[in-house]
Amino acid sequence: MRIILLGPPGSGKGTQAQLLVQRYGIVQLSTGEMLRAAVAAGTPVGLKAKEIMASGGLVPDEVVVGIISDRIDQPDAKNGFILDGFPRTVPQAEALDELLKRKHLKLDAVIELRVNESALLNRVETRVAQMRERGEEVRVDDTPEVLTKRLASYRSQTEPLIHYYSERRKLSTIDGMMAIDEVTRAIHRQLLALGAVEPKTHGKTHARSAAKAAPAKKAKTAKTAAKKPAKTAKKAANSAKKAAKKALKSAGKATRKTAKKATRKTAKKAVKKGAKKAAKKVTKKRAKR
Ligand code: AMP
Repeated sequence: MRIILLGPPGSGKGTQAQLLVQRYGIVQLSTGEMLRAAVAAGTPVGLKAKEIMASGGLVPDEVVVGIISDRIDQPDAKNGFILDGFPRTVPQAEALDELLKRKHLKLDAVIELRVNESALLNRVETRVAQMRERGEEVRVDDTPEVLTKRLASYRSQTEPLIHYYSERRKLSTIDGMMAIDEVTRAIHRQLLALGAVEPKTHGKTHARSAAKAAPAKKAKTAKTAAKKPAKTAKKAANSAKKAAKKALKSAGKATRKTAKKATRKTAKKAVKKGAKKAAKKVTKKRAKR
């Protein structure tokens, strides 16, 4: 799976990217992180980027496109990746389209985290204050002044990407003001709807336990049905079907296919069991006579 997380600084892209990494086993490719590492290591790219980053400007397109192109070729990105902070301009998006095409890779989705700008400034102020309290180092560009500049550059240079990807039917917008786990769930639902991810394993577990739960009711129904041999099998089957359906409904995330399969299986079993019991009872009665 290959996705882009789009959103202004402070919208929670980094946090969501990390959660998605854990959930889907893909890598997070953050140009901001890579550039900060380059600055710290004093590489030629780092030296070029240092001042620009500190002032809240954008590093030249060719620099970040080069970094991303190399990074996508690394073995750990084969399984998929989340682009966080890239692309940030339309030329970067065009360059990304080109390089994905060259590498025969498909972009699954672009998730936009939409947030309220004044809330963003509050978030950053709170985060910076908390980091200072804990004695942690604060990013040089994480001050309210620089953030104002980064927001302005987001509006003028990055926001046009919303139109770019919406035109290409890749864009999904999510309310980034919700609680972190709600945002994660919304992203997951979106990826499911797009077919970018398989229904999660816990969905299957629900389906399995639903199918397991059904036979309990089915056994009871079959027992009762055995008292009336004429209607046994049909009645047992119907009740079992109902029980399985009810349980599967509560399983929520079970796929339609799994649900149908479970219902059919349970119903079949019930028919067999009901008929068997009925036959046994008749044999018993005959033996008594
Ligand atoms: P971020 O951590 O994504 O907020 O990025 C921090 C800083 O790195 C930005 O303010 C830019 O100066 C620079 N940067 C990160 N990604 C890009 C990009 N795709 N294009 C240009 N500059 C970038």
